[in-house]
This record gives sequence, structure tokens and C-alpha cells, in this order.
Amino acid sequence: MISKLSSYTNISPHQSSRNGSKICKITPHHMAGNLSIETCGNVFQYREASSNYGIGSDGRIGCYVEEEDRSWASSSYDNDRQAITIEVANDEIGGDWHVSDAAIESLINLCVDICSRYGFRLDYDGTPNGSLTRHNMFISTTCPGPYLQSKFPYIAEEVNRRLDGDTPAVGGKYRVNSEDGLWLLDEDGEKMEVYSDGTEVEVLGNGYYMYGYSYYKVRVLSDGSEGYMAKDFLTKVEDPQPTPQPSGDFQVGDRVVVSGYATEDSNGGGERTADYGGNPNDPDDIRYITLIEPGAVRPYHISVGPTQGDGDRGWVSAGQIRKI
Ligand SMILES: [Zn+2]
Repeated sequence: MISKLSSYTNISPHQSSRNGSKICKITPHHMAGNLSIETCGNVFQYREASSNYGIGSDGRIGCYVEEEDRSWASSSYDNDRQAITIEVANDEIGGDWHVSDAAIESLINLCVDICSRYGFRLDYDGTPNGSLTRHNMFISTTCPGPYLQSKFPYIAEEVNRRLDGDTPAVGGKYRVNSEDGLWLLDEDGEKMEVYSDGTEVEVLGNGYYMYGYSYYKVRVLSDGSEGYMAKDFLTKVEDPQPTPQPSGDFQVGDRVVVSGYATEDSNGGGERTADYGGNPNDPDDIRYITLIEPGAVRPYHISVGPTQGDGDRGWVSAGQIRKI
């Protein structure tokens, strides 16, 4: 089996059987060099070593040992027979052995793909017992390098978050959601400036894990500053709702389908429901308008049944509903 995310295959002869072990771990390595996935694949043809996958600094993914087979990567039979091993290129030679943002993003995507296919989550506890393991847990080696190793808690949290259904944040518009404001940090975690509640930012990519929080790399839309903000205090900015129609278009008792989510309160606050599909041909999607509050942000209260109290779902705006 080869992940659909892989775009290049060069199977290494240096591999063995997993001897019946099931796949329940991931071990990211660093290449200690800036090898393309093709060059890395060639190295594993002659050097007595291998990995299941490799990721280049450009973010492309290659496969060298199919997933059902055991790679020779981590100096540990026990680890390698349970793990998918992934070599990641460095875009800095020496120093912290930096890894590109594109490679980190591909690594996260590949981990999500592997975890969802084999049914496990990433648990990084700094020991070989976790499901995210490191080469230097098994022998004395610089692998995975200071930079990539510092990303392990972030990678675990981000992969699990995406497994829970959060869509990748990159490119999204977010708003600071913290009454006391939120610090913008520099790449070393130093405080630069505090931004007030409601400040809008664009997420540029993955950040780091610091002070017990995961951070996104962001750009502040108002002044263009770039840095890092804790994702727990950022709320995704929803696409604007379609322009509401005059409230006279709908009446209590109307049979409707609804798209998007409903809120607990007519001002848009409180709990939100999941997004509705709003398929007029699906009886499960039929709703009724059971209350109207003219002038509210979300003036229409909808329920599953025709009367208020009969499966109440919450408040929506005119643009979300269609009479059927
Ligand atoms: Zn290694």
C-alpha cells in the first residue's frame, strides 16, 4: 500500500517483513541533507537503509518501502515493524537542521492520511511507548535534528485536530477571540505586540508549540505584521451570509430547507449546530419556521417539527432558508 499523497515510487531492496505487527506508530526522521525525493530514493537503492516515505523541501512525497513492509530506518526492529518511517529533507545544513514549511505541512498531511487509514492517533510522550517516535529514542544520533524534534508536539496536536475533523487552517481568515487581546510572538516565542479582541489575521502556515499552546504563523490584516498566535484564541471568520431577504417573505409554519448552521440565540450567539445540508429531496432535511423575531441578526427560528418545541434547532438568517 502506498499513500495517495505520494507522487514518486522507487522501492528499496533494503527492507524486511513486519512479521505480523500492525502499523500503530509514525517515526519522522531527518535526511541530514537537502535531498530531493528522487535522490533520497537512489541512496536507498545502494545504502543498506531505507524508510517507507521521504519528503523533499518542496513538500513532495516519495515512497521507498511499501507500508506493509518494514523499513530499515530507526535502529530498532521493534519500532520499525510497527512504524511508518518518513525521511524529511532539511533546508538548512547544520545548525538546527531547519525543515521547510512545505515539508512540515506535507508531513502533517501524510500523518493524517496514515492515522486515518490505520485507525490511530498521534500520542507524543517523549518515550518509545507513544505512537509518534524519534530515531534518537533508540540510539545516540542527531536525527531528527533540533528543529524537527521541536515540532513533534505541534505535529501530534495538529494531526489529531485534523483527525477530529478540523479542516487545515492555512489560508483561512481568523479573528482574535480573547477579551484581554492576544500576543503576536516572533519566531523564538518572544512577545512583539498585543492585538485586541476581534483583530483579523490570515493564517500563513503552521507555527510551533510553545507555553502549552499550538501556534499558527499569521499575518495581521490591519498592519501586515507577521508572527505567531495561539490557535486556541483564534476563531475562524465565516464567509459572509447572503444578504437577508425582507422578513415578510417567510411566515411561521413555512416548510423549508436550511443551509449552514443555526445558533442558539437570535443575535447569532450561543451554541451552534452542525452545518445543514439543506437537500429538499431528503425528508430528514425538512424544517419548519416556528418563530420569527423581526430585526434580529438571525430572525428565523427553525424546528424539525411544525411547532416550537418540536425538535428546535435554533436561529438562522433569511439567506439560509428556502421555502419548499
Ligand atoms: Zn533517523
